[in-house]
Amino acid sequence: MAERLETDVAVIGAGPAGIAIGLELARAGHRVILLESGGTHFDAEVQRLGDTAGKDPHHVEPALATRRQVGGASNIWGGRCVPFDPIDFEPRPIVGDARWPLDYEEIAPYLQRACEWCRCGDAAFDAGQLPELIGRSIVPGFTDGEVRASALERWSLPTNFGRVYRRALERSPSLRLRTGLTCTEIVPKAGSCEGGRRVEHLEARSKDGRRSQIKAARYVVAAGGLESTRLLFSSTRHDPDGIGNHSGHLGRWYMAHVEARVGRVRFSTPPQQTIYDHERDRDGVYVRRRFTFSAEAQRELGLPNAAIWLVNPEIADASHGNGILSFVYLMLISPLGRYFVAEGIRQAHTKSSRPTTVRAHLRNVARDIGPASAFAAAFGYRRFLKRGRKVPGFFVPSAANAYPLLYHGEHLPHWQSYVEPSRERDAMGMPRLRTHLHFSDEDVGSVRRAHELLDRSLREQGLGEVEMLHDDVEGAVREQLFGGYHQAGTTRMSAQAGDGVVDANLAVHGFEDLFVASSSTFPTSSQANSTFMLIAFSIRLADRLAGELSRRRQAPVGIAA
Ligand SMILES: Cc1cc2nc3c(=O)[nH]c(=O)nc-3n(C[C@H](O)[C@H](O)[C@H](O)COP(=O)(O)OP(=O)(O)OC[C@H]3O[C@@H](n4cnc5c(N)ncnc54)[C@H](O)[C@@H]3O)c2cc1C
Repeated sequence: MAERLETDVAVIGAGPAGIAIGLELARAGHRVILLESGGTHFDAEVQRLGDTAGKDPHHVEPALATRRQVGGASNIWGGRCVPFDPIDFEPRPIVGDARWPLDYEEIAPYLQRACEWCRCGDAAFDAGQLPELIGRSIVPGFTDGEVRASALERWSLPTNFGRVYRRALERSPSLRLRTGLTCTEIVPKAGSCEGGRRVEHLEARSKDGRRSQIKAARYVVAAGGLESTRLLFSSTRHDPDGIGNHSGHLGRWYMAHVEARVGRVRFSTPPQQTIYDHERDRDGVYVRRRFTFSAEAQRELGLPNAAIWLVNPEIADASHGNGILSFVYLMLISPLGRYFVAEGIRQAHTKSSRPTTVRAHLRNVARDIGPASAFAAAFGYRRFLKRGRKVPGFFVPSAANAYPLLYHGEHLPHWQSYVEPSRERDAMGMPRLRTHLHFSDEDVGSVRRAHELLDRSLREQGLGEVEMLHDDVEGAVREQLFGGYHQAGTTRMSAQAGDGVVDANLAVHGFEDLFVASSSTFPTSSQANSTFMLIAFSIRLADRLAGELSRRRQAPVGIAA
């Protein structure tokens, strides 16, 4: 006999989106059940529920990109907070028929509250807005034009939503966090009612096979990009191809980001004036400057949105000759390495494009023993021991004033980039997903074009130049195409039901009471990491639901026995 629960709003998934929505609604006085597949601690068996079928050469293993635990992937995220840009919301030829069904102005009012949830300070993402940062630039004397050097990323604590909001979750009288319960199916009512289709209830299961049914006035799927999509695919009782798949868009348009290290900048200005590291704003929040491209340049040149920032030389390649970088490399490959950073990040930083030996790294450390020891003490304290806000990372200065560049750009939406349910099933009986992350020649070509634009801008201003590190730049980019940490597109937002899965209010097209709060609803992927914008959309949804529920104040409907 299944346990039966009822509430005003059932939220599936206690990651950043689910926690923000659940607590916002509970604060507004509505009853919430927050359903979480994992527990408060990591459980490898539960984590395996999210494994995918088959092998996708461009896709990170889901175990490295997701966390089945209260707090979701915020247990392991970096904490970089960047909003999408107004141009992301514009119709552009390069994104084909992907259309945001709302304007940037409709989401902009939620950015400050998103900052508060992420604990990343004020919603000021341009150095020109901050008196303490104004008047300086990555390279002294740089004037913003086609290329801009004033854009800022902000850094969260990093906020582990499960830990930071644990007390609020425990103490909220109208929110019940139910851990160890995996939602396996959304069961819609047969046929449609006045105003649209409705959900009958949710089916959920615990690890030991106990079943629960949850009935609510509103249902929010906030299970992460891949898992939200999978849950819709798995709900086939009245929709054989999955809920929200009325027009065949469910699972399509899968986007990550295009990331590549193929260039190096050399500034011709005094090296000590380069701003290569994090800075702090007046509230002590870590921020970092990045090169971005003006909306006019993107429109005129048909460029995908992108950011480029300065990075360290590849730490695994001992030929950098830097004792600090070698020290970090040795720490990361040691048995302690997995305690310092998320495993996906550790693996990325310990891969070398050239042969390397531990002995060469030890030599670098021995030569730089003074700076390496000072670094270990200072960084170790600021990153691991200090309470509260942690330094997000470290960057070493270059005496030659030459820095490798990281390109982080929009992944264009492609129909042939998709996820689909496979025949393989997990321990709950849900079909595992198979991913097909696809990048096009246009994605690849945009990397060189963005570097060329930066090069032109620096040369015209007499401040330096960019050199490409490979003869075959496109080949080098192709080898680096890899993603899955930011999951967008697979439950696309659209104005018309025929063009996507959810509408501008994140309601599944045709449904009155079923919503998806996930970066998978984003029709385009921007240059920005997805979580910050997802929180903004989640708060907007919570406000809307709170308003609707307050207006109706309907008596909760009991589930038929
Ligand atoms: C290593 C790493 C670094 C990252 N760094 C950044 C960064 O710097 N900046 C940034 O913006 N983003 C970053 N991200 C991405 C960021 O973590 C995600 O965008 C964010 O966590 C998504 O939040 P979410 O609530 O949508 O989903 P998730 O965090 O995935 O949470 C979903 C929750 O739903 C639960 N769940 C899943 N299925 C079910 C089900 N059927 N029933 C019940 N519960 C379910 C899961 O257990 C999980 O707790 C990073 C990710 C990783 C892995």
